[in-house]
Amino acid sequence: MSSDLTRRRFLTRLGQGVAATSVSASMLKTAAAQLRVPDPPGKKLGYAIVGLGSLSINQILPAFALCEHSKPVAFVTGHPDKAAKLGPRYGIDPKNVYSYENYDTIRDNPLVDIIYIVLPNSMHAEYTIRGLKAGKHVLCEKPMATSVADCEAMIAAAKQANRKLMIAYRCQYEPFNREMVRIARAKEYGRLVSIVGDNGFNIGDPTQWRLNRQLAGGGSLMDIGIYGLNAARFIAGEEPTEVTATIYTTPNDPRFKEVEETTHFQLRFPSGTLGSFTTSYGYSSQGRIRAIATDGWYQLEPSMNYTGLRMQVHRGNHTDEVMLPQRDHFALEMEHMSDCVMNNKGPQTPGEEGLRDVTIMMAIYEAAKTGRTVKL
Ligand code: NAD
Repeated sequence: MSSDLTRRRFLTRLGQGVAATSVSASMLKTAAAQLRVPDPPGKKLGYAIVGLGSLSINQILPAFALCEHSKPVAFVTGHPDKAAKLGPRYGIDPKNVYSYENYDTIRDNPLVDIIYIVLPNSMHAEYTIRGLKAGKHVLCEKPMATSVADCEAMIAAAKQANRKLMIAYRCQYEPFNREMVRIARAKEYGRLVSIVGDNGFNIGDPTQWRLNRQLAGGGSLMDIGIYGLNAARFIAGEEPTEVTATIYTTPNDPRFKEVEETTHFQLRFPSGTLGSFTTSYGYSSQGRIRAIATDGWYQLEPSMNYTGLRMQVHRGNHTDEVMLPQRDHFALEMEHMSDCVMNNKGPQTPGEEGLRDVTIMMAIYEAAKTGRTVKL
């Protein structure tokens, strides 16, 4: 049995049981050798969370507990009842709770350094621009906006205000996705020929904003297809030059009166790498991506869950499981944003990164509508 324990990753040959006790003992020894005693608490930047919905309540707010340099200090919400419940839990003073109407007065609050926009997609542009004009740095959820023009206006507002703008591509900050990129750059499995992926879930309530074109900007592609697209660009390390696409939406399904259900799209990269992706609101939960190279393949499945990502690498007749630390994606992403603000660095996923995905998604819609290849 081959097993290879390094500081960076631990490979397990699938189907050839590893003795759990010996693994645990080795891992404990390694963990002890790597034990890092944390520094005393230092400066933490203050975040205002705009929109207290599912993502804010279930993922973002709890993730602050894992942050060294980021803390929640304010809420912006249309639901004072939610703020009243969450405030005591996260130590938010009621005087730091804003409505959408008095949001702009956040400029006078020195506790707020960074505003995190967690609203329906078409509201990202307005609240990002208002936040930047209030002199704050902005972290904005994906997709950046629902049009190229809105993305450009957001980037221009950040430049004008001389503030940081980062798009919350959490997967770019976590270890499994980063390992896919490292393997691709090192060409460990040879030349990257193809990247394939599926991202989707079976969407419920037909009245939710994700199925409202005005608020969502589109269907599964804008919401969840963006994960495959962004990961493909991240892994390939280059920008696609053309796209083709096909869309299918089940007729008379009450969920899909305004937005599309399923999209297949193909990407061509300058080096010759091809990408092929499916995204849907009509199939059971899927999130996987496989990079296929001349000498083997490497993949994540699941690839975009909040926890429990898994990675496999394949060469010859062997598939190995790659063990990496499971880290909180939101904590990593917010700490990156705080680091950029504290140390005046450019974020890894700035507004321009969000603009690229929105531009490509618009090209995918155009390709599906016209049945033609769209050049980028
Ligand atoms: P949600 O519906 O749970 O929350 C949306 C929030 O916006 C609610 O608090 C709601 O009250 C508020 N809101 C304000 N005006 C509204 C309006 N006109 N209609 C509907 N809601 C309105 O949505 P969510 O799942 O938290 O998603 C919010 C954003 O986060 C979206 O842009 C989504 O794409 C993004 N998101 C990202 C991830 C990720 O993993 N990075 C995961 C889920 C959602």
